[in-house]
Amino acid sequence: MTSISNKAAWVDEPQQPCVKYMPFPKRPYRLVLLGAPGVGKGTQADLLCQELLTCHLSTGEVFRAIKDSDREKTAAQNEALAYIKRGELVPDEIVIDMVRERSDCFVCEYGFILDGFPRTLPQAEALGTMLGEVDVALDAVITYELPKEVIVDRLSGRRMCSNCRTNFHVEYKPPLQDGVCDRCGSPLVQREDDRPESVVVRLEEYQESTEPLIQYYRKAGLLMQISAMGDPQSVFQKTMGMLERLPSVVGS
Ligand code: AMP
Repeated sequence: MTSISNKAAWVDEPQQPCVKYMPFPKRPYRLVLLGAPGVGKGTQADLLCQELLTCHLSTGEVFRAIKDSDREKTAAQNEALAYIKRGELVPDEIVIDMVRERSDCFVCEYGFILDGFPRTLPQAEALGTMLGEVDVALDAVITYELPKEVIVDRLSGRRMCSNCRTNFHVEYKPPLQDGVCDRCGSPLVQREDDRPESVVVRLEEYQESTEPLIQYYRKAGLLMQISAMGDPQSVFQKTMGMLERLPSVVGS
């Protein structure tokens, strides 16, 4: 789990100060992670953030923080949560507004890893516009790939800590004590959208809405395709090997 910053400005609300207490990275990486739900994007994002000292910006995390917050929710937030519960994508305008409010994160000297955004072509275009406004370029868009059967198996066994959100898997990454988080001792839960009926919808949504982004970013010369088969460390090593070969973005 990354501890580069408290990410308050990204996760809680954009007005929150973002406290960083790590040395500057050698170069700030600005990356987008793509991949169907269950390919292990979140795990890779955590490993990459620790190595590259970037911030992990996950729109899914923002929505989960909104869901768990005691604060009164806006109409748009309630609408978004209803989509998530069904496993459907939240409408573009809501997600884009939410990201735009947090666009200061794009000029962070530590760089960033966007996980779960963009997920549709309009979101990718909006991201391009937001980055253009602050004169920031992406270094790469990484897409993790896995066969569908493996994805379903991974998602249905996934359990998440109800407190610190560390991920486990009943078979491949079991906690030391059944149903209890190794890190903080809180109960493990199944995400609402990891239930079988939501998983099917999420995979269809991915195929329809997000897969076209692969072609979009390939055309832009930014795409890095990586197989997500194998254990997280080997996928991470493959990713680092490819990132280290990237030329530095001029001016970064
Ligand atoms: P994740 O943790 O990235 O799998 O996101 C959990 C859920 O939040 C998704 O299944 C969507 O319902 C919603 N969500 C997160 N990011 C986006 C996005 N960029 N566009 C639309 N919906 C999103």
